[in-house]
Amino acid sequence: MRRLVRAPNAAIAQIWADLLCEAGYPATVERLQLSSVAGELPPDQCLPEIWLRHAEHEAAARELLAELERLPQRRWHCPACGELVEGGFEQCWACGALMPRD
Ligand SMILES: [Zn+2]
Repeated sequence: MRRLVRAPNAAIAQIWADLLCEAGYPATVERLQLSSVAGELPPDQCLPEIWLRHAEHEAAARELLAELERLPQRRWHCPACGELVEGGFEQCWACGALMPRD
């Protein structure tokens, strides 16, 4: 296991982990279980982290996430469920609806 990156929130952590798994780099989200006691810990101790199962995937996995960050940053409200979607994603992480095209 190798720690790859810290995610800004649980939803994005799950999206990143899924993306890495789909790309062939098995990854898991850790520390999510601490969110229930978030008030008792420094905020940066509670953020979810992405861990790779195989350390040799680290370079490729970082490249994959870097590509994701180079996408135009968008922030939009899902027309189907009202969720705020951030981080360059074109699909609502909550319900799967596609980003509206204007
Ligand atoms: Zn939605």
